[in-house]
Amino acid sequence: MGDAAHLEPLFTSDAIESRLDRLAYEIAGTMPKDFAAVAILKGSFIFAADLIRALTAHGLNPDVDFMTLASYGLGTSSSGTVSLLRDVEVEVAGRHVLLIDDILDSGRTVAFAKAHMKAKGAAAVHTCVLLDKTSGRSGASRADFAGFACPPAFVVGYGMDHAHKYRGLPFVAILKGE
Ligand code: 5GP
Repeated sequence: MGDAAHLEPLFTSDAIESRLDRLAYEIAGTMPKDFAAVAILKGSFIFAADLIRALTAHGLNPDVDFMTLASYGLGTSSSGTVSLLRDVEVEVAGRHVLLIDDILDSGRTVAFAKAHMKAKGAAAVHTCVLLDKTSGRSGASRADFAGFACPPAFVVGYGMDHAHKYRGLPFVAILKGE
């Protein structure tokens, strides 16, 4: 029998709040006035809600929509194929799109979403993730905007789950002992 699962705090809600304000400032300085912010569900829902409000505080007013992707892999590994469960309703043809996701790991999910937006005719696709696990890995894809570099551990909270739990934690934590 293993140790009971426990949480090791990684990014506090205060740290997330101030990082998001800076991220919104960077995005406001880069994105055109008109764009569509597309959150990739489910893990990004809290990040997207806070980021979009920070973008509004920085004078932006993007169209907001959601797409649901599923990644079928084994356990907590992110290998596997990505499929589209729910598409956006907003018009993306000829427009700039900002994809919002929780974590960039292998990069498959964001690459899939990016290709999908391009196939729908988006003029440009920008990517924003809360956590970048690829920062220490050469050859891995990068996001245009990233909140924090994340160690190669399994994290939960702030919208991110383990077996549908922990999404409501106001901070990001490493889940140990699972
Ligand atoms: P990728 O497609 O980049 O390999 O994986 C990205 C997706 O895998 C994320 O959007 C997230 O859903 C999931 N993922 C990767 N690492 C973690 C993690 O540490 N915790 C949680 N909860 N999900 C993760």
